[in-house]
Amino acid sequence: MNHNDKQDELAHKRAAFQLPKGKVYLDGNSLGPLPVAARERAREVVEGQWGDDLISSWNTHDWIHLPATVGDKIGALTGAAPGQVVCCDSISVNLFKVLSAALKMRPGRHVIATTRDNFPTDIYMVEGLIEQLSDAYELRFIDEQDIAGGLSEDIAVVMLTQVNFRTGFKHNMQQVTQQVHDCGGLMLWDLAHSAGAFTVELDACKADFAVGCTYKYLNGGPGAPAFIYVARAHQQYYRQPLSGWMGHASPFAFLPGYEPDEGIRQNLSGTPGIIGMSVLDAALSVFDDVSMKQIETKSRALMRYFLQCLETAGLSDVLTLVSPHEDCRGSQLAFRHPHSYAICQAWIDEGIIADFRAPDILRVGFAPLYLRFTDLDDAVRSLAAIVNEKRYERPEFNQKNMVT
Ligand SMILES: *Cc1c(COP(=O)(O)O)cnc(C)c1O
Repeated sequence: MNHNDKQDELAHKRAAFQLPKGKVYLDGNSLGPLPVAARERAREVVEGQWGDDLISSWNTHDWIHLPATVGDKIGALTGAAPGQVVCCDSISVNLFKVLSAALKMRPGRHVIATTRDNFPTDIYMVEGLIEQLSDAYELRFIDEQDIAGGLSEDIAVVMLTQVNFRTGFKHNMQQVTQQVHDCGGLMLWDLAHSAGAFTVELDACKADFAVGCTYKYLNGGPGAPAFIYVARAHQQYYRQPLSGWMGHASPFAFLPGYEPDEGIRQNLSGTPGIIGMSVLDAALSVFDDVSMKQIETKSRALMRYFLQCLETAGLSDVLTLVSPHEDCRGSQLAFRHPHSYAICQAWIDEGIIADFRAPDILRVGFAPLYLRFTDLDDAVRSLAAIVNEKRYERPEFNQKNMVT
């Protein structure tokens, strides 16, 4: 047994997950594994609630409030006081809502700023929105390493993913939000690789808006619903355009005209996917007895240990680390190698699951709730064999899959 595991305060959390034997999961940053509580809730919500209790479940099992109660649980993990986070739709759709509302709150300003290296859907959604608005607005790319230098008074909203999905580079939320505010702009954070991975302080950093998904570090399951944060101070001025009945002030009054809910619930459009949201609700209970600080501390220790193991195995010069120092990176490490794709496939073949991101990045995710230090020993031992024996040259590891 690795001695670090004996001192691990989070060691007991591993039992909260169903983890296949003989595998090391270094891809919880893409799709978290199945929490046991989520598996049980799936059965309960389908068989018991839907199956037996039918439509009365909207009241008896409080389905109607699920988007808000789950939202508050996510808020508790991201530094948001209750009433500011709601669970709904996907990041992509939520970006459309929030960006539309943000533009209206800054009349006279016509620029949405982001980084060129942002996750593609974030950029695509801006492109689609601007086209919808008859090109009256502009998408502007600013330098990830110098946000302040890219700011100007024509910017309505700055949209940044806090952790770069390829390199793991992490923005300083407090500092960047302040800089954007000093320039009169609004700040929208995408927390896809932040929520559940380390401490996030949305309220304390005075973030205006945030979005995030729940199937990565929050382990909500494939395609689990996303979330939106709108700071309390903005809620009375905020108006998003997908004005569906679930965001109406009184959905069950069935009134002919739209009148938005005064709070965060306005972000709902159509009927929530109750099965997926219930499973997510149960998945979040895994975080009940741990703090994000503990998770962040272990994440850093895991990454430090992994890098040490690579060094000891003589792999540090072969795999080029492209992630920055631990104070400015998320809970992942990215390495560059000309054969990254095939190395990753060979690793998966050995039961070590990581992923590849074009063009040449081997991405390793560290999810502290279930990862052990001994898993990293196994992972590096296997990686050393693959690299030293050039196993990545085998044709079967060089066939590209649709999902990488
Ligand atoms: C994973 C991820 C998404 C996914 O968006 P969906 O619309 O939920 O599929 C968006 N943005 C970033 C930065 C991501 O990492």
